[in-house]
Amino acid sequence: MDEHVYANEAAISKEDDAALELVESLRQRAKAEGLWAPNLPPEAGGTGTGFLGYAYLNEEIGRSTWAQYIFGCQAPDAGNAEILWEFGTDEQKERWLAPLVAGQIRSFFSMTEPDVAGSDPTTLRTRAVRDGDEWVIDGHKWFSSGAEGAAFAIVMAVTDPDAPPHSRASQIIVPADNPGVDIVRPISVFGHAGRGWSTHCEVTYTGVRVPAANTLGEVGAGFRIAQKRLGPGRIHHVMRWLGQMQRAFELMCERALEREAFGSRLADKQTVQNWIADSAAEIQACRLMTLDAAHKIDAGDEARVEVSVIKFYAARVLNEVIDRAIRGHGALGITNDSPLATMYVMARAARIYDGPDEVHRMVVARRILKSFESGDGWQFR
Ligand SMILES: Cc1cc2nc3c(=O)[nH]c(=O)nc-3n(C[C@H](O)[C@H](O)[C@H](O)COP(=O)(O)OP(=O)(O)OC[C@H]3O[C@@H](n4cnc5c(N)ncnc54)[C@H](O)[C@@H]3O)c2cc1C
Repeated sequence: MDEHVYANEAAISKEDDAALELVESLRQRAKAEGLWAPNLPPEAGGTGTGFLGYAYLNEEIGRSTWAQYIFGCQAPDAGNAEILWEFGTDEQKERWLAPLVAGQIRSFFSMTEPDVAGSDPTTLRTRAVRDGDEWVIDGHKWFSSGAEGAAFAIVMAVTDPDAPPHSRASQIIVPADNPGVDIVRPISVFGHAGRGWSTHCEVTYTGVRVPAANTLGEVGAGFRIAQKRLGPGRIHHVMRWLGQMQRAFELMCERALEREAFGSRLADKQTVQNWIADSAAEIQACRLMTLDAAHKIDAGDEARVEVSVIKFYAARVLNEVIDRAIRGHGALGITNDSPLATMYVMARAARIYDGPDEVHRMVVARRILKSFESGDGWQFR
């Protein structure tokens, strides 16, 4: 990370042709050093040592937003690879998973739609209708991350509108060059449209025909597969956020020790000391809660409450710690001469993606209250 990632961050962030070449050379280096795709086991083409090992590794990888791409475990490809590995047929694995894990192609996950609330995906409108051995897909998606230049999508589409809400949708593999797939535009996010992997795209599907054999898992299992992907995936996100928090914390402390105003160092002002003390407490609380959830998942528990608690709590701490670090840096903190500005923008999105914080609070409260209603109360363990 010190030698190859941080040192090249500013050059990579330009996202010009030279940046793409540089990032590609770093990816090759990560491969050569046996650090590639740590999210997957060697049988699937990765170098992973299991769920917990990868969770801990994410704390380091997360310190730089580009590192996940350099190490071949970037969202959404990592999650797509994991579900292809778990639910894909042999044919799907050969055609899509193998080149994806090898870093030869990229993919996207196309679920959210502009016209309905992504928080409640039972309202999805994209339809896939069977016609003989094919699905015919029509729909309008957005925030399909990484769609520009990707080889295929995993599309969440309603396949049985009359089924119970959580059995209505299926996940279907759609080649991006299929007739009817239109990557309308990379959406500008906080003024950044991105390039390739860093885009969030609007995508339309108009009469898109794919073989029924492109269904991932069973028909109607879309939500179950999404849940399988999201629970452990959120642990990995939060571990990466911990890396961001720690980096911001270090920058804040270093700056406080070197900058002087009104006759003393920032480090000697109680407001700044409060930022540091509060951040130290909150980061460690996030870290221990995340590891607790990770260990519960590793032991076979779904840890739904724990995962939702860390999602909204860590997203808040992430935003607050980076904000404090920016304050300590003054104007420098919002320039691209410091990594903090990019970190801040990414952190703001963290409160929305993977389920908005408010939805996770709802999940936590509902589950706890249900447990009280049934007479069990709630044990902190
Ligand atoms: C950076 C980024 C990357 C993304 N990548 C992808 C991707 O690759 N693929 C993909 O399919 N999607 C992706 N998304 C979309 C993301 O999953 C959705 O934005 C998210 O699910 C929220 O849906 P929405 O934007 O439609 O907000 P809405 O569902 O319209 O919600 C708006 C707001 O309403 C409030 N709200 C909702 N429900 C409740 C509730 N029960 N109680 C209280 N308040 C509530 C919340 O404040 C919420 O933020 C990405 C989003 C971002 C920001």
